[in-house]
Amino acid sequence: MAKKNLCNKCSGLCCRYFALPIETPEDKEDYDDIRWYLCHKDTTVFMEDGDWYVNIKNKCRHLSEKDYKCQIYDKRPKICRSYTTKDCDLAEGEYDYELHFTSDKQMEEYIKIKFHNNVKEKKKATKKRAGKKK
Ligand code: SF4
Ligand code: SF4
Repeated sequence: MAKKNLCNKCSGLCCRYFALPIETPEDKEDYDDIRWYLCHKDTTVFMEDGDWYVNIKNKCRHLSEKDYKCQIYDKRPKICRSYTTKDCDLAEGEYDYELHFTSDKQMEEYIKIKFHNNVKEKKKATKKRAGKKK
């Protein structure tokens, strides 16, 4: 019941983007690949519970802008069927992102801090390079 009420007050926020899991970045090149995602408009990247996702803001073609209802409700995909109002975009509460990047500039800064100013990462990279030389 609560679900219906909540969705009736909503403009279909959950139908206006999609998020896909991506591989956990390990080295500087991986982070730079993520920076490339972030060069694209309406794209963000976040980490939640240790897992990384790319989020693309792009409205579903089946969301009606007149009444914000799904136009293919009876045959909507499984992902839509399994989505609930529990912790949905309109539900109260903040997202528990551990990291959230909204631009390539942010990632550039993050890379600088993580790899250029970080002694631990530098040592790791040096060890990796030394290992490769053997
Ligand atoms: S599930 Fe949440 S975000 Fe999606 S339409 Fe209903 S209230 Fe809106
Ligand atoms: S198919 Fe329907 S429920 Fe699924 S994202 Fe599109 S509009 Fe939303």
